[in-house]
Amino acid sequence: MKFGTHVSIAGGVFNAPERAAAVGCETFQMFTRSPRGGAAPKLTSDIIAQFKKNCATFSFSKCYVHAPYYVNLASDNTTIAKSSMSIIKEELQRCSLLGVTAMMMHVGSAREQDRNQALAKAIVGLKEIVKNYKGSTKFLLEISAGSGNVIGDTFEEVATLLKALPAKVGVCFDTAHAFASGYDLRTPKAVQTTFKKFDTVIGLKRLALVHGNDSRVDFNSHVDRHWHIGKGKIGREGFKAIINHPKLKNVDMILETPEAEMDTVNLGVVKKLRG
Ligand SMILES: [Zn+2]
Ligand SMILES: [Zn+2]
Repeated sequence: MKFGTHVSIAGGVFNAPERAAAVGCETFQMFTRSPRGGAAPKLTSDIIAQFKKNCATFSFSKCYVHAPYYVNLASDNTTIAKSSMSIIKEELQRCSLLGVTAMMMHVGSAREQDRNQALAKAIVGLKEIVKNYKGSTKFLLEISAGSGNVIGDTFEEVATLLKALPAKVGVCFDTAHAFASGYDLRTPKAVQTTFKKFDTVIGLKRLALVHGNDSRVDFNSHVDRHWHIGKGKIGREGFKAIINHPKLKNVDMILETPEAEMDTVNLGVVKKLRG
């Protein structure tokens, strides 16, 4: 298991590898565009070459991208659903150009709609995204914290989405989200049980990345509040068990903890917990 954090792309995506190296990352995650909106900055061949060169310079063989937050494939507003679809499509192409390992997205929210209706809509969008996709970046759906009517908070629901999609689509397991959704991760035993359940319902071979975030809120509280590793409600013991889980050896962990100036400290904590 390699560790990384989410790093800023201020000044250009090619700045991300150096920033990641500076805080002690072994891999890293970034956005390729503003996560809150607006057109994506162009990826010229110069920018792509420079990004790849910097990844090599700082010895990053793998890196990850988080898709923008504002997309909603389940929206009952056709314009939003369609634009979400094209943004994710475009983002996967951009990631492939950059040689990104995998890109994860939050599928969306049912809001006021009937849950099954929203799920059906999300599936239509997801199918459309992967239909003619031939890029090299793996596409991942992220487990959600289940706040409001957000889709993908249970393993069963994620499995429903995946069943409609090709086997190459994977999952990003966010520890804080899963914990808030009612999957206990506080003790070695709880971690065993949770990943066993994941394996039964989704399949561990679908697990492509872990977002390692402690939780500021209690177990099963259905709120998304990331916190510093070992200082939250999951705690060190839980993280130690996750990090050293034999089935997660080849899965990387990206920290999305608050306060960038704490990144080195949080990376130090997880590195120490690695057996
Ligand atoms: Zn996320
Ligand atoms: Zn979160």
